[in-house]
Amino acid sequence: MVAETLILRINPLKPERDLVRVAAAILKEGGLVAFPTETVYGLGAVASRRDAVLRIFRVKGRPPDNPLILHLASPDWLPSVSREIPEVAYRLAERLWPGPLTLILHRSESVLDEVTAGLPKVAVRVPAHPVALSLIEEVGEPVAAPSANKSGRPSPTRAEHVLEDFKGEIEAVIDSGDTLHGVESTIVDVTQSPPVLLRPGALPVEDIERVAGVKLVIPPFARGLGEADRALAPGTRYRHYAPRAEMVVVELEDYSELSRLARVVREIALSKKASGLRVGVLCSDETASFYEGVGVVRSLGPRSNMFIVARNLFAALRDLDREGVDFIVAEGFEERGLGLTVMNRLRKAAGFKVIRG
Ligand code: AMP
Ligand code: MG
Repeated sequence: MVAETLILRINPLKPERDLVRVAAAILKEGGLVAFPTETVYGLGAVASRRDAVLRIFRVKGRPPDNPLILHLASPDWLPSVSREIPEVAYRLAERLWPGPLTLILHRSESVLDEVTAGLPKVAVRVPAHPVALSLIEEVGEPVAAPSANKSGRPSPTRAEHVLEDFKGEIEAVIDSGDTLHGVESTIVDVTQSPPVLLRPGALPVEDIERVAGVKLVIPPFARGLGEADRALAPGTRYRHYAPRAEMVVVELEDYSELSRLARVVREIALSKKASGLRVGVLCSDETASFYEGVGVVRSLGPRSNMFIVARNLFAALRDLDREGVDFIVAEGFEERGLGLTVMNRLRKAAGFKVIRG
């Protein structure tokens, strides 16, 4: 427990050097600093400090078998964390870093067991956010960071979300406004051939396949359909991204039948309302008008722009919590491009409770 959490307001486009130095100094002393990335806010610790890394697990309430991602300031740092880097990793790193892509590589000895949760592989990425990059550069070594939320909660897309979860428990949070993507990085295990998608994220699978020149293996757990073997995808076994309310997702085979989707969502919402619950609906611009009078309605955006939908998702879940809803009915989205990412998060947030419309 720390008495007060320092809030550092840093310009996301032109990070003030003196403020970045303050944050870097806290990290170097073994403190925890939440910082913005282009995906979500991360909860950082210097990756070589066991005490600091262990504190991340403690304050998050994170199971010790769920490893962290190493954030590097440059791909040039790769040899310090892995000595076996396949050709495809270099190709992806060269074209897609800095960016929302996390690569799983064989770890080198120097990486702490606590960071990889004892696994032989390590997760790494170079974030595309000026504040994150200058912070890591200033620290001068890899920064371990999971998302800056209590374990199981929706990931934070603004500093205010970080403070909701960690006020008084971490040394500092950097406030640089809303994050760009609003969902986490895409995780690809490049130690396997063909590479395996472990988590869909802000970078669409199709973009990665184009650069890699191969189709990725997409296991069912990456779509948010049930839980994976721990050795394959640690951290996928828990309910994740979850609002306080109970939640279901209504899915269709074919999303050209939007009025059918809206009818089913509305029916479920009304029956929950009739049983005395305060209901929230997560929908799209196309269908929002169907839900008048049903409860707290939040549109994630137009189906034609899944970037917007993904970007709004976690903030909308936290918003429905603040509204005090007891039950959330969410519309499903087509699993293409960022739709795969959105469906992974929705299914997990719902604890895998899916209704076929
Ligand atoms: P978060 O940024 O909070 O989503 O947490 C980092 C994610 O990276 C976790 O969900 C892990 O599943 C994933 N991850 C980290 N290291 C590894 C690894 N060695 N193998 C597979 N997944 C990993
Ligand atoms: Mg997380």
